[in-house]
Amino acid sequence: MIKLHDKYFKPFISAEQIDMAIDTLVEEISTDLGDEVPVFVGILNGSFMLTSDFVKKYPKPCEVTFIKLASYEGLKSSEDIQRLIGLTQDLTGRTVIILEDIIDTGKTLAEVHRIFKNEKVKTLKIATLFYKPEAYKKDFKLHYVGIEIPNKFIVGYGLDYDNLGRDLPEVYQIKETQHMTNLVLFGPPGAGKGTQAEFLKEKYHLVHISTGDVFRYNIKNETALGMLAKSYMDKGDLVPDQVTIDMLNAEVEKNADANGFIFDGFPRTDAQAKALDELMDSKDSAISAMIALEVDDEVLVQRLLKRGETSGRADDADESIIRNRITEYYKKTAILKDYYSAQDKYFGVDGVGSIEEITERLSAVIDNL
Ligand code: AMP
Repeated sequence: MIKLHDKYFKPFISAEQIDMAIDTLVEEISTDLGDEVPVFVGILNGSFMLTSDFVKKYPKPCEVTFIKLASYEGLKSSEDIQRLIGLTQDLTGRTVIILEDIIDTGKTLAEVHRIFKNEKVKTLKIATLFYKPEAYKKDFKLHYVGIEIPNKFIVGYGLDYDNLGRDLPEVYQIKETQHMTNLVLFGPPGAGKGTQAEFLKEKYHLVHISTGDVFRYNIKNETALGMLAKSYMDKGDLVPDQVTIDMLNAEVEKNADANGFIFDGFPRTDAQAKALDELMDSKDSAISAMIALEVDDEVLVQRLLKRGETSGRADDADESIIRNRITEYYKKTAILKDYYSAQDKYFGVDGVGSIEEITERLSAVIDNL
């Protein structure tokens, strides 16, 4: 990952891939042109790298020149008008190949056609290293295309973000999500996850998602999801993975601008952990850590029975349901310890003590991430 100005970018197209794409372009163009001596016209600034690498590989005699895109701001109040300048050479009767680093909307290409309209060239062909088909809004033919890319902002290999990044030999794509702290708060029922999450979300400006709370909210409002979840929850069993995963994805989507999340009660199975990694990956982010509150079983049972006296939760009222939830936790969920340990992201924290003491222990882990 790299940072240019205020933004983070991730590796996208390697120098080797670029090199191979240029080889193909050279091969196609030289085959089409035969012994004709073409004039390659690079569009500055972006295409300086492409033009240089391309002509070094071109196997036959050729000429090289550049034109430059210049902005004239303020001609019309809010419009930024771009003009190509610098075409001084007489190109009458010549075969001209435009070398573009990237074609997205096609605005520059319209400019190319405008300035070549009155040049009596023999042929005008367009070659571009990168092409964004989803962004392209013009009808001009693209004769040679190196690599098609999605409509995302890229830098490197001549392309810049506010003037930085042109020098990079490979191409990077902007990260969708700039920087997030995503915590999985873990621990058996009654370990104090909910209480600690309240403190941590304030302290680190995170969004707290408790899957248990979301299910309970749905049950209270008698939604279809609530009805479905209730039968499992009342027994202390886990709600099926796909139902839970879909619900979690929706909760994360609702908070697209978050600094990060505290996941509480999720993931609880291997499938959920994998789904969470995929979800984070789709946001160009990752789980930063799993922090587990470690509390002895008998302490848990006593805490939950006490909570049941006031919480009104059916699954807190009965000792055998409580024990089933704890057993469920160790049976299905404790394997997640291995999942996150394998990624060096597991942190166990002693969950016995005062609320403040435990918050401090958790903060020490987060501050060290
Ligand atoms: P909790 O409030 O986290 O103790 O969750 C209460 C109940 O909600 C659990 O016993 C499950 O029935 C259900 N539940 C909460 N989170 C999940 C999850 N990640 N996967 C499956 N079921 C869940």
